[in-house]
Amino acid sequence: MNERNVGLIAHGGAGKWRPGSDDDAVEGLRAAVEKGRAVLLAGGSALDAVCATVVTLEDNPIFNAGTGAVLNFDGFCELDASVMASDGARVGAVAALQRVKNPILVARKVMEETDHVMLAGEGAQRFARVMGFGDHDPVTPDRQADWKDKREHVGDILGAGALKMRKFLKDHPEYAGGTVGAAAVDAKGVLAAATSTGGVTLKLVGRVGDSPIPGAGNYANAHMAASATGTGEFVMRSLAARDIAERMERGATLEAAMGEVLDRLGREYDADVGLIAVDRNGHPVARHRTRDMPHAYFHGTEAITSKMRV
Ligand code: ASP
Repeated sequence: MNERNVGLIAHGGAGKWRPGSDDDAVEGLRAAVEKGRAVLLAGGSALDAVCATVVTLEDNPIFNAGTGAVLNFDGFCELDASVMASDGARVGAVAALQRVKNPILVARKVMEETDHVMLAGEGAQRFARVMGFGDHDPVTPDRQADWKDKREHVGDILGAGALKMRKFLKDHPEYAGGTVGAAAVDAKGVLAAATSTGGVTLKLVGRVGDSPIPGAGNYANAHMAASATGTGEFVMRSLAARDIAERMERGATLEAAMGEVLDRLGREYDADVGLIAVDRNGHPVARHRTRDMPHAYFHGTEAITSKMRV
């Protein structure tokens, strides 16, 4: 096995972390990447590695994915997730899925067990149950209290229109954030990406973000694997993850491509977003326009690096 070429990077959401929770976020990322690293160093696949990493983050209630996901306007969780592997452009996704513990694993089942790319809502839940995923309420007491507080002030937030909501989220990015994602390359040179989220707080019921959309919030091909975070509406409009891949197809390095894409997101949308990616050699890169984006990575035989911002 060529250990030099394996690599993995993961994020815990672009935004602003509440004072006091920084260390837990960075430590949570390190522990999750450790799981993916063990898979890769044992000769496992990039797909297994990103799923192991994202499952660990979904099970950690401080992140906005799986258990601990943020609540929608009506006060329940609708979960978005997707996985993609570069071999055969395999991809699977779930959107607005309720009451499962690990949406990323349901997304993987969509990829492996159906002819479809994405299942949404009730259909996604029905599929999950058939695949053996039991009923699980992802709402935590902390998220519920947060939702109650915000819901009481919803008039101030929404005001005359959603523009105020946009401004509010921009001024208080700690309000959302905490989405998780991972990108990796294995010893066979296969690249994979996985992304999972509860979306944005107080989102309208049925809102689907960028995380389950291939080419927007999650993407893998022969050049790179990437996961995006931040306000999904900007990531969907810009097809940010696919944009990185296209620039690399035209000869850019991963670092240059990510810099250009982030510049474009700033120029065109002033978007509060972040991106992580690896190239085919396992080289990891993280970039963000928000104050924070906890992330962790390793490359080859290197130890794991874990930090709150680039
Ligand atoms: N991108 C996610 C969404 O819009 C949210 C986030 O990354 O914070 O659903």
